[in-house]
Parts: sequence; structure tokens; C-alpha cells
Amino acid sequence: MKGIKLVLFDVDDTLYDFERNWQLTVESVFQSHPLTSGYEQKRICSLFNRYSEMHWSKTVCGELTFQQYRRLRLQETLEQFGETLLDEAFDSFTQAFIETSLSQMQADVKVRAVLQRITEQYAVGIITNGANDTAREKLARLGLSEFFPLNTVIVSSDVGVGKPDPAIFDLTLKQIGYRAEETVFVGDSWSADIVGALNAGLHAIWFNPKGVEPLTTHEPLAIIKHLSELEHVLKDESQKNNKN
Ligand SMILES: [Mg+2]
Repeated sequence: MKGIKLVLFDVDDTLYDFERNWQLTVESVFQSHPLTSGYEQKRICSLFNRYSEMHWSKTVCGELTFQQYRRLRLQETLEQFGETLLDEAFDSFTQAFIETSLSQMQADVKVRAVLQRITEQYAVGIITNGANDTAREKLARLGLSEFFPLNTVIVSSDVGVGKPDPAIFDLTLKQIGYRAEETVFVGDSWSADIVGALNAGLHAIWFNPKGVEPLTTHEPLAIIKHLSELEHVLKDESQKNNKN
């Protein structure tokens, strides 16, 4: 095995706590926006979560655009209350949702420190399944833009395909200029990040802070609970390679 030269990262739930951000955003926007504030909050939020989850995979594979996804999850939620969604209300709700979510993102000194040290030795990049109108702004709010120049940030809704499709890994490697065998992918999602990376011929390190069980027999290089473990794993790998 050749040595690792490029470290690719997932963003949501790897570089920041997406789940917490999502939950806070949903609660805050549904409660404050005139379109949704009049409904029973627990019910409307849980319906929204359900429709969001239901349509996510179609969005990742490019069957729905991100904007269609945003509309569908809200439209179907409101239909449960006999409401139709008008364009103007959709636009204003979506803007509030994006702004609220972004406003809660803050730089994490620990994550920044890890990236600082990793980038001293390795090239880095991003593959994220998400919206192209927010992905780079997220990195800016998280204080991570300096580590990831624009051409190293690959967003599924920009390229029309998402993880775990090998195509997004292939085009990322081509764009950043490394081979699969000298690249490791770091992410929290077994099915999107780990299965996706390994099937595309990359190495993978599973960020698994909650200690969930793997869903398949794929074998990542390592499983870590904290991002700070990453350096040790990469160092061990490079020592192993030097001995071979
Ligand atoms: Mg993730």
C-alpha cells in the first residue's frame, strides 16, 4: 500500500454537530415563522423531520435538486394540516431556515487545531452531500475556509451526484490531483462515507463518536471517536508503510 497524501473530509456530523444544529434550527424556525408558528410544534416538526429524511436519498443521487427537496419537505408537511405552500412563503421560510442554521455555526478550536496540524503534512479536501448555496458558507462560519481552497470543496448538488456513488470520489480525486490509493476519507456515515470511499478504492477512517455498529463487512483503516485521534492513525499508517 502506498502512503497517504490526501485526507478528504465529510462535513456534516464530522466537522461539526449537524444533528444538534438541525434540531435547534427546526425548533427555532417553526416556532418563529408566521407560516408554521400557529401549529402544534411537536407534531409539525416531527412531520418535517420525517419528510426531510424520506426525500434525502433522492436528493443525494441527483433525482431532486436541493431546492426541490427543500420545497417538497415543507409542502408535504403543510399538506398534513390542509395547507398549500405558496412561493413567497416558501422563499421566506427557506431563507429563515438557512440563516438560522448558519448563524448557529461557530468555529471549534479543537477541530481547527486538528486541521492545522493535518494540513502541515497532507493535502486536504471536502466531499459533502448538501446544498451548493450553503456548503462554502458553512466552512467559513466554522472557521475552516483557510484550509480548504475552493477547488478542494466538492458539493453533491454542484456535481449532480453524491456519496456513496463512486463517481463523486473519482471526480474529486481528478480535480484535486491524487490517486485513490494515496487518499483516505474521513466521515461519520457508514453507508455514504465508508462504503462509498472503500468501493471507490480509497482508504477510509470512520468517525464514530456514538459507537454505532457497522452495517456491512467493509473494512476501514481505523475507527475513531474523536477527530484528534486522526493524527495518530495517519502516523501509524505512514510508519507501517515505511517498514513495508
Ligand atoms: Mg456526515
